Amino acid sequence: DVVLHFPVSGGGPLGLSRRTVKALNGVSLTVRPGETIGIVGESGSGKSTLGRALLGLEEVTSGHVTFDGIDVTSGRRQDLVRLRHETAMVFQDPMNALNPRLRVGEAIAEVLRVHKKVPTKRIGQRVAELLGLVGLDPALASRRPQALSGGQCQRVGIARALAVEPKLIVADECVAALDVSIQGQIINLFIDLKERMDLTLVFIAHDLSIVRRLCDRVAVMYLGRIVEEGPTEAVFAAPRHPYTAALIASIPEIDPDIPLPAAPMQGEPPSPLDLPAGCPFHPRCPYAEPQCRTDPPPTLRRRDNHGWACILDPSHLPPPATRLPNAT
Ligand code: SF4
Ligand code: MG
Repeated sequence: DVVLHFPVSGGGPLGLSRRTVKALNGVSLTVRPGETIGIVGESGSGKSTLGRALLGLEEVTSGHVTFDGIDVTSGRRQDLVRLRHETAMVFQDPMNALNPRLRVGEAIAEVLRVHKKVPTKRIGQRVAELLGLVGLDPALASRRPQALSGGQCQRVGIARALAVEPKLIVADECVAALDVSIQGQIINLFIDLKERMDLTLVFIAHDLSIVRRLCDRVAVMYLGRIVEEGPTEAVFAAPRHPYTAALIASIPEIDPDIPLPAAPMQGEPPSPLDLPAGCPFHPRCPYAEPQCRTDPPPTLRRRDNHGWACILDPSHLPPPATRLPNAT
């Protein structure tokens, strides 16, 4: 039940008014060991804030995050230190995430020394192993990030994350800055690592087709709430929340002869500074009833391990997204 609100200044006639960004508004989520879960939603939905809160990088307003017995939200130093040794993050911008002054091998060695206390004489070998694991030539250890492509830099970022031997990796839009063909290679790498290493991965992305390929489960966020959550194939085959249905309908058309499964998304999401009353999706929802404007936001209901936060029964939604490509 994590709530995360933070004040921002600016706006108003003098630019002095203080307002509150309501980034997370009661998020509950369980990630099980060995599971890959995708967090999707438009920008401003709170995906990145949730990912950072999971790793203790944001102070929550209320609610709790626990990780393998650690109270992430306690703010206690020993909890955060343990968390740093057992989790890792892969960032969006692979070039900027690496220190330009450090050679690739040094950047990985730093993690091995700080988090794993690997003795100096073993570091070179471990760096080579990690580079091999992410599909890079170990000879790249002597290069600086500027000499690498974006895709190679992201592989180094993943090698640095794996160097921690983390129990949990959070990847935030980690392929969004890459060319489409390179994106595919990085996703294949994650699929490969998932099979070989039993990764537990929280994969934040706005690209639904990537999440469909990679993730076992998916959680759909809208304005700081999870509005749908379930097994990936179930969610894509038969979405239960009108927002998810519209998101899926917004995926670029593959076969123009097959009709649209639902009305694609209308309009822009409202600002997290100014949440609508009632169901937060009501201003854009084609199925909104009068009570959706006034009643408290619907809570997640579950059937068959697949939850949705809408007053409607999913049978109200149009047939499933037949025109989606198969996730192969
Ligand atoms: Fe639409 Fe109402 Fe369901 Fe919200 S609760 S998604 S407004 S039908
Ligand atoms: Mg983000």
